[in-house]
Amino acid sequence: MKYYSLNHNAPNVSFQEAVIQGLATDKGLYFPETITSLATSFFDTIESLSHEEIAFEAIKQFVGGEIPAETLKQIIAETLCFDFPLVEVENGIYSLELFHGPTMAFKDVGARFMSRCLAYFNKDNKDNKNTVLVATSGDTGGAVASGFLGVNGVDVVILYPSGKVSDIQEKQLTTLGQNIKALEVDGVFDDCQDMVKKAFLDKDLEHIHLTSANSINIARWLPQMFYFFFAYKALKSQGKPLIFSCPSGNFGNICAGIIAKKLGLPIEHFVASTNVNDTVPRFLASGIYDPKPSIATISNAMDVGNPSNFVRIQEMYQNDLEQFKKDFTSYTFTDAETLVALKAIYNERGYIAEPHGAVGYLGLKKELQNIPNAIGVFLETAHPIKFLDVVEPALGITLPLPTQIESVMNKEKVSVKISNYDELKEFLNSK
Ligand SMILES: *Cc1c(COP(=O)(O)O)cnc(C)c1O
Repeated sequence: MKYYSLNHNAPNVSFQEAVIQGLATDKGLYFPETITSLATSFFDTIESLSHEEIAFEAIKQFVGGEIPAETLKQIIAETLCFDFPLVEVENGIYSLELFHGPTMAFKDVGARFMSRCLAYFNKDNKDNKNTVLVATSGDTGGAVASGFLGVNGVDVVILYPSGKVSDIQEKQLTTLGQNIKALEVDGVFDDCQDMVKKAFLDKDLEHIHLTSANSINIARWLPQMFYFFFAYKALKSQGKPLIFSCPSGNFGNICAGIIAKKLGLPIEHFVASTNVNDTVPRFLASGIYDPKPSIATISNAMDVGNPSNFVRIQEMYQNDLEQFKKDFTSYTFTDAETLVALKAIYNERGYIAEPHGAVGYLGLKKELQNIPNAIGVFLETAHPIKFLDVVEPALGITLPLPTQIESVMNKEKVSVKISNYDELKEFLNSK
C-alpha cells in the first residue's frame, strides 16, 4: 500500500515510511492510495468474529504486508487489551465506552498500535532512534506516554499548554519518566501544535528523526476505525440504520469512522459534534473553511481551531459539499448546553458521562430528529474521572479513583517550561 501527500508535492511512500515520517515533506497529511471494500461475507459473519479478527481484517490492506501477519496480529492483541462496552443510555441511544484502556481515553487504541508498529520498524536499528514529538490538548499526551513507555528505539517529547489540561491528564504525561519527556508550553494548544509542525520541517532537527503521534500519523489514526466495527457487530441484529456521533476536535476519530464506512461498514450517517470551536459546522453551513484560534471550553480535548484531519475528510468526499452533507452533519454546542446534557443524562438516565461524551450525546439527539428510526451511538471518549473538576460539581457526586489513575496521582510531576520555538529546538538538540 502506498500513501500520498494531500498537498500533492511529495513522493508517495510505503506504510513504514508514512509511519516513521508522520507528515510528508510538503507538510501534507498522508492518505492511502486505495481503499478496497471488505467482502460482504465479512459483514454477514461479523458476529462470529472476535475483536482481534475484525481489527486484523480491517487494517491489513493499509499495512500492505509490511508487517508479517503474525506480528500484526500480535500488535492488534496488545492494542486491544481492554473492552469496548456499549451501554444503552436511553431507548435506542448507546454510549460506546472507549475509555477502559490504560489511560482511560480512546487515544490508547491509536497510541498502542502506533508504538508497536514503530518498535517493529526500529527493531534492527539500534543506534538510530526516532523521536516522537506530540502536541496535546489533554488526552493525547497521556495515551502516547503510556503507549510508548519503554518502547525500544523511541524517545517521546510531549508539548502541552500550561494550566489548560486537567490535573489527572498532567500527571499522566509528566510522571512516567524513562523515554518520556514533557514540555509545558506558555500558550494554548494551537501554539503547541504549530511548534510541532515547525519542528518537523526544520532541517536542523533532521538528525533526531522526528515523527508525530498525533492523529496526523496514519498509525495513530487508522486503528481508530476498529471500534466502529465492534459497535456494528453488537447492534447489527436490531436491523436498523446506525448513526454515530463523534465528539470532535482534530477530527481523527470521525475520519477513521468514515474509512470504516468506505470499507463497507453499513453506517447511515455521521455527526461531528463540536464545542464552540465550530470551524467545521461553519464550513458546512457556508462552504467556507475559515479556521479560528481555539477557545477554551470544558471539553478541552476538543479545543481545536483548525482540525488537522479535516483535509482527509474533504479528500474522501472529493471536496464536494453536497456529497459530504449526505453522510455527515456537524453541530456545535456551548458549555452551558453541555452541562445541561451532562446533568440530564445523569438525573434522568442514571448514566455518568463527561463533557466530550455529553457533546456527542447532544449532536446525536439532534440528528435523531431527522432519522427517527435509527439507532444512535455516541462515542464516550474519556472516563468521567479525567474531567472530574467539571463532572463532580455538575452532578454533585464524588467519583472513585480507578486504579489506572490512582497509580499516577502520587507520583511527582516532572516537566520543562518553554515559551517559544527556539526553546523547543534547544531542548531537542540537547536531549
Ligand atoms: C482527542 C479527544 C477528542 C477529539 O478526538 P479527535 O479525533 O481529535 O476529533 C474527544 N474527546 C476526548 C476525550 C479526546 O481526548
